Amino acid sequence: MMALSCAEARDLASDLLDGELSQELERAVDEHVTGCPTCPALYRALLAVHHELERLRHEEEPREGRGSA
Ligand SMILES: [Zn+2]
Repeated sequence: MMALSCAEARDLASDLLDGELSQELERAVDEHVTGCPTCPALYRALLAVHHELERLRHEEEPREGRGSA
């Protein structure tokens, strides 16, 4: 099993949220966050930002309106 530093875990966490990590790395990040005293709060903050961005991305999708030209 891999031991990540906090910086590595945070770095990987954003990739994880983008779904770009292998299962092995996902688990390594998960294990670090679970066992780390400081990372859970940061991870939750990152997760919140990620969800907000997803929401905005959906809102920005063009509506199916027929604009009069
Ligand atoms: Zn940590």
